[in-house]
Amino acid sequence: MAVGVLALQGSFNEHIAALKRVGVKGVQIRKPEQLQSVSALIIPGGESTTMAKLAEYHNLFPALREFVKMGKPVWGTCAGLIFLAEKAIGQKTGGQELIGGLDCTVHRNFFGSQIQSFEAEIPIPEIAAKEGGPPSFRGVFIRAPGILEVGPEVQVLADVPAPSTVGSLEDNAGPEKKVIVAVRQGNLLATAFHPELTADTRWHSYFLKMVNETSEEASSSTSLSSEE
Ligand code: GLN
Repeated sequence: MAVGVLALQGSFNEHIAALKRVGVKGVQIRKPEQLQSVSALIIPGGESTTMAKLAEYHNLFPALREFVKMGKPVWGTCAGLIFLAEKAIGQKTGGQELIGGLDCTVHRNFFGSQIQSFEAEIPIPEIAAKEGGPPSFRGVFIRAPGILEVGPEVQVLADVPAPSTVGSLEDNAGPEKKVIVAVRQGNLLATAFHPELTADTRWHSYFLKMVNETSEEASSSTSLSSEE
């Protein structure tokens, strides 16, 4: 099994290293045709407007949207989450192209700018139930986005109290509220933080289980149709 990692900009090398730690080969993806050789894709963190410009330059958007529509597993971390969202708001979002598919509204810089980056222990009940280990995960939040709204098919995997320091940002959820930082919707996984920058590989293992489930479903539907 090979997992593609969009390698236009951002932390793609770190994802490839994390995949190696869980025994899987990560393949750098820079051109649309390269997507045909992988069964799943990770879109790393970085800077979503720069990444969007590069994706446009390489004519990647149609192939990326097709990949999502085909039901192939795709995991977006941070800028990757923004890329997958149906709607992004917040500073300098105007006109930025998105892949879409993930039924949510994301605030691009919900947790503030670079100097407001932080690490926090976040509860991860679903991941801990499936992957074992401690009930929380060290989340690395770098100019992190927050998920403000999700559609009915979106499963919330992690949320955190919305910090009061972002009170000046538009659409702030407010200090007493929670903001969503990890979700799953069918073949799509998205995290506002950077699991590839920690030694804890449980999110990568969780994603690989999604990949295995999808390929099992695909092969059983092929064998069903060949029996018809
Ligand atoms: N907020 C950043 C953006 O808009 C994402 C930051 C990240 O990926 N670490 O692209």
